[in-house]
Amino acid sequence: MRLELQDIEDGPLKKELYCSPAEFPVLREMEKRHEARFYDPLVFQLRVQKSGQIVEIDGQLTATVELFCGRCLQLYEQRISGAFSLTFTPHPDAEEILDSHEGDEVELETDELGLVYYQDDFIELLHPLQDQLVMALPINPLCSEDCSGLCPNCGANLNHETCDCAKEPFNNKFSALARIKFNSSEN
Ligand SMILES: [Zn+2]
Ligand SMILES: [Zn+2]
Repeated sequence: MRLELQDIEDGPLKKELYCSPAEFPVLREMEKRHEARFYDPLVFQLRVQKSGQIVEIDGQLTATVELFCGRCLQLYEQRISGAFSLTFTPHPDAEEILDSHEGDEVELETDELGLVYYQDDFIELLHPLQDQLVMALPINPLCSEDCSGLCPNCGANLNHETCDCAKEPFNNKFSALARIKFNSSEN
């Protein structure tokens, strides 16, 4: 997943990458842990521009992924998309970093700014694209906005069935709370 600098010398370049999830170590790891399953291909549309030594990429990603709903714990399919910008700049000399004794800190800061170092005459896209994909995943995956989730008592999936204990869970909680307060004020 390399971008050769010589290919972008002559002005902006549009590139469409169709990647297999198996190419990305973090995604493979997520699949192994059964956290998500990514469909092949993952699509990245990139617009690459080089000015001086700085390479800028505006990108759009689309992917389809199977995730577990945070409420009903069922596997569901979700379309993921996201826009991102990345700026690549030549890696400062290794000696400079050793001199500053803060090599790790520098790396971290550049990550947060969407700034990525490159070395030699190519840009490795694997890790930057992998990061963007992971960031585009929902923090709280939901099979649907109004997923009813599982009954905390009997575990019934309330999207598909009803159960007797699920009738007024909130009221039950509040009445339990009220009892605790009442008891403690008595003591
Ligand atoms: Zn759900
Ligand atoms: Zn129940």
